[in-house]
Amino acid sequence: MTKYVFVTGGVVSGLGKGITASSLALLLKSRGYKVFMQKFDPYINVDPGTMSPFQHGEVFVTADGSETDLDLGHYERFIDEELNYTSNITTGKIYSAVIEKERRGDYLGATVQIVPHITNEIKNKVYEAGITSKADIVITEIGGTIGDIESGAFIEALRQIQNEKGKENTFFVHTTLVPFIYGSDELKTKPTQHSVIELRGLGIQPDMIVTRSPIALDNHLKNKIALYCSIPKEHIIDSIDVKNIYQIPINYYKQKADEIILKQFNLDVKKANLTEWKKLIETTDNLKKEIEIALVGKYTELHDAYISIAEALKHAGYKYNTKININWIDSEKLEDNPDLKKIFKNTKGIIIPGGFGQRGIEGMIKAAKYARENNIPFLGICLGMQVAVIEFARNVCNLKEANSREFSSLCKTPVIDLMAEQKNIINMGGTLRLGNYDCHLKKGTLAYNDYKCEDIKERHRHRYEFNNEYRKILEKNGLVISGINKASDLVEIIELPNHKHFIGCQFHPEFKSRPTRCHPLFDSFIKNSLN
Ligand code: GLN
Repeated sequence: MTKYVFVTGGVVSGLGKGITASSLALLLKSRGYKVFMQKFDPYINVDPGTMSPFQHGEVFVTADGSETDLDLGHYERFIDEELNYTSNITTGKIYSAVIEKERRGDYLGATVQIVPHITNEIKNKVYEAGITSKADIVITEIGGTIGDIESGAFIEALRQIQNEKGKENTFFVHTTLVPFIYGSDELKTKPTQHSVIELRGLGIQPDMIVTRSPIALDNHLKNKIALYCSIPKEHIIDSIDVKNIYQIPINYYKQKADEIILKQFNLDVKKANLTEWKKLIETTDNLKKEIEIALVGKYTELHDAYISIAEALKHAGYKYNTKININWIDSEKLEDNPDLKKIFKNTKGIIIPGGFGQRGIEGMIKAAKYARENNIPFLGICLGMQVAVIEFARNVCNLKEANSREFSSLCKTPVIDLMAEQKNIINMGGTLRLGNYDCHLKKGTLAYNDYKCEDIKERHRHRYEFNNEYRKILEKNGLVISGINKASDLVEIIELPNHKHFIGCQFHPEFKSRPTRCHPLFDSFIKNSLN
């Protein structure tokens, strides 16, 4: 029988609930249990795919092509399991499903209501995650903060699940803020107390409280929370601010957070295998070298918009004992005559990430040109690959008007064009080329040397593609097509052989990077940037 852990948040958002959920999941997995993860996002968008990166940060893409919340990236990086469409549920998804059923007549004349119809749909999503994953434990994080109007139906559904499944099969973790008040120089537990009162008002008594604070709580404060919130003192887990998020599971382990959960579930507390993770922390805490990598993008004010890329860079850095300092460069600022030499003075590698729309494109093209001409290691991801192709076409193949159809609908030289199957699509949401596609690598290329095999699968999220009409002329001028999707003959990877390291991929390798196993493309990028 599957057991369910629910992670809620109190007082403020941005407490790191996702990291808390991931850390608990990692610990439970380390004790030999199969763990699956899920996030509820109480907004009305069906998925975050149509939201601005400035609103929402990165859209994480799962292997099955679901566009999801960036917390799923943390989940995959911590538990190293592939998640899927059952892992990110929004109010939009729930309501769409219920309204569709209502129109079909499935409710047989009933008045369709939040309770029980919406709550039943939510409960089914929790159970579906358990059934399809065959996990021993499903961890569900609920986005937002307790008390939000938006999340009410979700919390009610969880209360019902506890009622149906019982205490020995459900566990509630409530994460709260314990602020430090300067002047009186003390931590305050009142917001936590009030947040738990709010949660109890919704019928849920937390089984564990994770307190986010700059320093650990002393005995006196823990006793106070235990008394007011009716939980054993040992069930209050300190989550102090850390520089390195990968440290957090170890901090929870020391406080026996996972043991407490397993005991309530009547599951054996098997020996935890954290050898690999402890080795990781040993590495991350003792990095010997440093290197600057420039990330030239259009959403650079919000680093969360590129969180998987930043993590993937870090992971590759770990392998080479190197701390990666990202120089976040707003591509729009490169457009009017900047001194590129000065901007890239300390840069050892340039990365151009994914993105949509015309703003800032010419600045990215300049950065790609600078990398190509100055032999600076370059990694172009999705839009970054498209930009590198446009730059090469314009400045090497003399196709002066080269562009992507995305930025110029009347473009005469669309080296990047709309995919055939995209031409008649009207809806924006969920209609990109999404998720895993095969890619066949050409032997002897940089890409082949990185992956060390001929056939790979990588995750996609784009509407435009390399236009095969220009393949010959670009190849004649020295561009190497090192990866293609055989079924559709789509170009997946391009590279330049007479360069220290110049590679672009149409897919998003960052989604598959893990802290203990960096991605081959990031591996070689950092390796060559260090040389
Ligand atoms: N805007 C480009 C496209 O749709 C690239 C997308 C991306 O970088 N994810 O093809």
